[in-house]
Amino acid sequence: MPSVSLRLAVIGAGAAGLVAARELRREGHAPVVFERAAAVGGTWLYAPPAAPSDPLGAAATHSSLYASLRTNLPRESMGFLDFPFVAAEATGSADPRRFPGHEEVLRYLEAFARRFDLLRLVRFETEVLGVRREGRGRWAVTSRKLGDKGSGQEEVYDAVVVCNGHYTEPRIAVIPGIDAWPGKQMHSHNYRVPEPFVDQVVIVIGASASAFDISRDIASTAKQVHIADRSTPLRRCVKQPGYNNLWLHSMIDRAQEDGRVVFRDGSSIKADVIMHCTGYLYDFPFLGDDSTITVDDNRVDPLYKHVFPPEVAPQLSFIGLPWKVIPFPLFELQSKWVAKVLSGRIVLPSKEEMMEDVKAFYSKLEARGWPKRYTHNFSNCQFEYDDWLAAQCSYPTIEEWRKQMYFFNGYNKAARPESYRDEWDDDDLVEDANGDFKKYL
Ligand code: FAD
Repeated sequence: MPSVSLRLAVIGAGAAGLVAARELRREGHAPVVFERAAAVGGTWLYAPPAAPSDPLGAAATHSSLYASLRTNLPRESMGFLDFPFVAAEATGSADPRRFPGHEEVLRYLEAFARRFDLLRLVRFETEVLGVRREGRGRWAVTSRKLGDKGSGQEEVYDAVVVCNGHYTEPRIAVIPGIDAWPGKQMHSHNYRVPEPFVDQVVIVIGASASAFDISRDIASTAKQVHIADRSTPLRRCVKQPGYNNLWLHSMIDRAQEDGRVVFRDGSSIKADVIMHCTGYLYDFPFLGDDSTITVDDNRVDPLYKHVFPPEVAPQLSFIGLPWKVIPFPLFELQSKWVAKVLSGRIVLPSKEEMMEDVKAFYSKLEARGWPKRYTHNFSNCQFEYDDWLAAQCSYPTIEEWRKQMYFFNGYNKAARPESYRDEWDDDDLVEDANGDFKKYL
């Protein structure tokens, strides 16, 4: 098989960009990582509280973390496949909990970058402004150093790997009457601490892990918190067990000029704040039409196996789009695949075959009745996908304990939503994981 070494641009130095850089270099390529921030970590670089100029928008910060955040996956399952996320000196650990605080994840990613000597590949405080297709399948990347004026510097790369994350651009709920409603609105992207909500009445919209955690966080200071969840077909509001100021409702029906918010369950409340925990939008502001992809109702289209746009593959690729997954191992396997495809060790199907595959996948989603915005939702299929990638790369499949631990955590979370981070029954799986980790430590 031929092996080619390419000069590559990687956009982003979060978990995806870091592992992509490692895999690309392992394969003999020369990656340059562009990172807008001054440090690695992406999402895990906590941005301290500040009054955002636009509380509903992406504002100036990339990260959506709030101060009290602990991981929602057990650490053994979360880490990269050959660099275990264990509470050890090698990972810079200072928080040995199984579901540690966000600072521990950042320390782990920093340790990963140091261990694999990735920092010297990163151009910090350098934003990619544009990616334009050149002749012979190459790409011109325009970037600008923070503080510099002007239109930036253009360089040509053999290929571009996009790792810019997808938890920054807020998706907002549409609420009839909201323009005349006098209260304050905010997106969870800009939520950090509960103190500003002392004595306030807050409505939290959403059913995600963030909505669950943030509503509890705010309930520690607010007068009342009301969760509006469109997937809850309730006729009336329900007080949440263990709280005297937290209620669960069905979705908001409308907001009124007098400050009241009416729920579909018929109840209404005069509220001070609506917090949208309503998720995020894929956004690639640096890509133009020549990237061949569009984003419609959160479907990044078309992508072969959620990674390569068939028309311009393999010179443009995306790492990290799937959600409802264990992210780091999935990023790692996608990166191995991209690296080997770029070097010619793995050959992609023809453009036509890749398009057929994409269409067949969309037909499957339609048959299942899933909306477009669930295109990259991997609930129930992530391990099949991971194992497919691993097989392409002749790499071992995902460990059995990791798969079981993921499902077990899901059950435990459903059974003990308030305490799953501190109580569990899968110590046997932890033991299996630690046994496996010995070969990497
Ligand atoms: P990011 O971490 O977002 O990194 C993208 C990077 O790209 C950033 O550093 C950004 O500055 C940079 N960038 C973007 N645009 C440009 C540009 N134009 N030029 C240069 N640089 C650019 N995952 C877990 O495994 N466990 C958890 O418990 C967990 N909890 C989460 C809780 C919350 C609230 C959120 C939002 C996410 C959580 N995740 C969790 C998922 C988390 O997003 C992933 O673990 C992972 O960090 C995503 O990595 P990424 O590299 O894809 O994106």
